[in-house]
Amino acid sequence: MIGYMYDHDFSLHDTGEHIEINLRTESIDEMVQEKYELFHIPTRVGDKDELSAVHDSGYVDWVESGYDNDIRMIASSDTILSAKSYNVALKAATSTKNVIDAFKQGVISRAFLNLRPPGHHAEIITGQGFCIFNNVALMARYAQDAGYQRVLIIDFDVHHGNGTQDIFYDDDSVFYFSTHEKNNYPYFVGDESETGRGDGIGFNKNIAYKDEIEDEEFLALYDALPEDFDFDIVLVSAGYDLMNDEYISSAQISFDALSQMVRKILNFTGDKPIAFLLEGGYNIDSLVQSVDVTLEQMTAD
Ligand SMILES: [Zn+2]
Repeated sequence: MIGYMYDHDFSLHDTGEHIEINLRTESIDEMVQEKYELFHIPTRVGDKDELSAVHDSGYVDWVESGYDNDIRMIASSDTILSAKSYNVALKAATSTKNVIDAFKQGVISRAFLNLRPPGHHAEIITGQGFCIFNNVALMARYAQDAGYQRVLIIDFDVHHGNGTQDIFYDDDSVFYFSTHEKNNYPYFVGDESETGRGDGIGFNKNIAYKDEIEDEEFLALYDALPEDFDFDIVLVSAGYDLMNDEYISSAQISFDALSQMVRKILNFTGDKPIAFLLEGGYNIDSLVQSVDVTLEQMTAD
């Protein structure tokens, strides 16, 4: 069974005319409802203390009280804080735990989480890049609490997941593997020389690719998934802003190549649980088709 998570409340994170808009997740949900019969996993509103597994509590408090203190932007004016943003971000991040529980109970074997706001740019002490709390990182920590000790995070968003790298940089129990465009946000981080720190050395792999990368070269990068890391679960930061028709990258990836990449990841994962968490992707038509391609592969075997 394939699990699926979505909540209409995700639309309450009101970003106005921003490209990271509620139409993204709403449009994906419409497609999913029409085309797939998936096991719907309910969301939950966790306690803010749960976020301290990956974030500094001072940052969490600052976001919680931010709107009332007239803060409308997090970090460098790219991450909007609307009246409900804290609650939505808290719900998105902490709801990932229900997916882990569903894996643990044997209810599902794979899952797609249609979440917003996205999370992979959110570092320990600050959100940024349209991200408030780091969903995939919190999910990874809870997976470990549930007995999935060694977590492989694969991030194919066109941008480097600086937040996820930051949170697990000195940790040898979470392997972070990212492919991303070299000359793109967040800049100055995501270099291939960044391989981890202390115990974490060797457990962080960045592959930074050239502008306008095309299918064949991109797919070959996924031959470098970490064969030696004996993982218990795979979490995927599924950002679809690498696609040909996307707005904020130059990558030229086709739907056929996306499909092949997802297949490579699924084959690599084998019988272990795997969850895809939505990160970027801003051209609505391209985004919906990309998630469709992902689900086609996830439901194919
Ligand atoms: Zn992105």
